[in-house]
Amino acid sequence: MNGLPQLRVYGKVYVLRLGHRPERDRRITTHVALVARAFGANGFVMEGTCDDHVMRSIEKVLRSWGGKMHLECGVDGLRYASSWEGDVIHLTMYGVPLEKIIDSIASSPRPKLVIVGAEKVRREYYEIAHYNVAVGNQPHSEVSALALFLDRLFRGSWTNIMFEGAKLKIIPSEKGKRVMRVDGR
Ligand code: SAM
Repeated sequence: MNGLPQLRVYGKVYVLRLGHRPERDRRITTHVALVARAFGANGFVMEGTCDDHVMRSIEKVLRSWGGKMHLECGVDGLRYASSWEGDVIHLTMYGVPLEKIIDSIASSPRPKLVIVGAEKVRREYYEIAHYNVAVGNQPHSEVSALALFLDRLFRGSWTNIMFEGAKLKIIPSEKGKRVMRVDGR
């Protein structure tokens, strides 16, 4: 043990992104995927459309910065969520405050599917979800909601993730940018 908190293991923690609109959501959906990876999820799934632009961006990050992630697109979101074997968690400002429910969610070792929307989320998702969770009861963003939720789920231990197969690694610096190639160059 190195004294650092270990990453909690749930087997699968996947993020399901609903309602992606290629003409306006590319950047934010890519950010949802990047947050999913960086904050400890191991799957990113897009409902409906398959946007190669988003998928290529996350694949590129995985190649350079490492980590393994299940990537999938074009799924039927309702079918995916209702056949999920584990806990289905829908992030919505209308839900139960995160701080009230996170201990109960985190204490179960079952795989987790975390759902985030774009615009209006169909009523059925509120029914299918085992937990409708609010990260504060104000409207903000799927990116911030997901980051905060995963941070609480993993109790901050995502900061210790070693991304397998990384070609690049940052050397934290007070000023400037120091990036090391992991192959030593
Ligand atoms: N009216 C939406 C709602 O139900 O939360 C806000 C739409 S927001 C542009 C897009 C997504 O961000 C939502 O579907 C939800 O997943 C997430 N989101 C926004 N604010 C949130 C909050 N306070 N708590 C949890 N999730 C939030």
